[in-house]
Amino acid sequence: MKKICECPQKGVVPREREFMYTEEEKSGMNHEPNKCNGTNEIKKYKRDDKELYLCSCCYLFGDIELPD
Ligand SMILES: [Zn+2]
Ligand SMILES: [Zn+2]
Repeated sequence: MKKICECPQKGVVPREREFMYTEEEKSGMNHEPNKCNGTNEIKKYKRDDKELYLCSCCYLFGDIELPD
């Protein structure tokens, strides 16, 4: 099954990480809340009390990676 990024915030690709992504990936990652189309390295993370699948762009410092 293809995993989808569940980022609950508005997404912005940080300037210093733009080089890591293709135009297509960036267009998916500059997103409205819950509408990230990023597909890069989606993993499960724990943020506060929630478990979220996040792409490598939406992962934030402090999110705890969980075993899938
Ligand atoms: Zn995001
Ligand atoms: Zn994302």
